[in-house]
Amino acid sequence: MKYIAQESGLKSFTCPHCGVLARQYHWVNSGNLDNGSYGTFSANPIRVSKCEHCDKICLWYFDKLVYPNRGNAPSPNIDMPGEIKKDYEEAASISTQSPRGAAALLRLVIQKLCISLGGNGSNINEDIQTMISKGVPVTVQQALDIVRVVGNNAVHPGQIDVDDPEIVGKLFSLINVICEYMISMPKKIGEIYNSLPEDSKKAIEKRDMKAKPT
Ligand SMILES: [Zn+2]
Repeated sequence: MKYIAQESGLKSFTCPHCGVLARQYHWVNSGNLDNGSYGTFSANPIRVSKCEHCDKICLWYFDKLVYPNRGNAPSPNIDMPGEIKKDYEEAASISTQSPRGAAALLRLVIQKLCISLGGNGSNINEDIQTMISKGVPVTVQQALDIVRVVGNNAVHPGQIDVDDPEIVGKLFSLINVICEYMISMPKKIGEIYNSLPEDSKKAIEKRDMKAKPT
């Protein structure tokens, strides 16, 4: 889906709540959230916009997005499981004030992601190892390891400066890449695959049975 950065007064942008590129209704002084009226921005510094898709609001101070506060972190992947999204959002909300705290929370995000992808959660390193043995792409493995290593540095003294918001900011994108590869892509391709004619799917199954070693 096309991404349009959030901007105060813009008719449509990618909603920081639902991740959908949707129309946004803006409200300043005299407008009303429910009728979605537009108006020229007055001197009132407090502005509100409301997403047509999820009905959630954004709070602005002039042109600065105050709520939801994600620092420089991008919106979470649309298919990110709910509980993991909560931790991601919490990490994003503190990423500017405490990059170290955000990195530690993102390590937890990785741990939970590994569990949702079949790991047992007791040891992230072992869970990543298991995923490699199941054929996870190297790109995903590297993304998981980067977040794990930086996150470890946030928890234990290490060599990486986790107080650098720029380093920690990149971890958010990596988590979205992992979700895209491991959750969104299989979902999208699976849906299209399932729409193939039954005969074609049976022929593919038969071919794969033959290819299996006896
Ligand atoms: Zn929305």
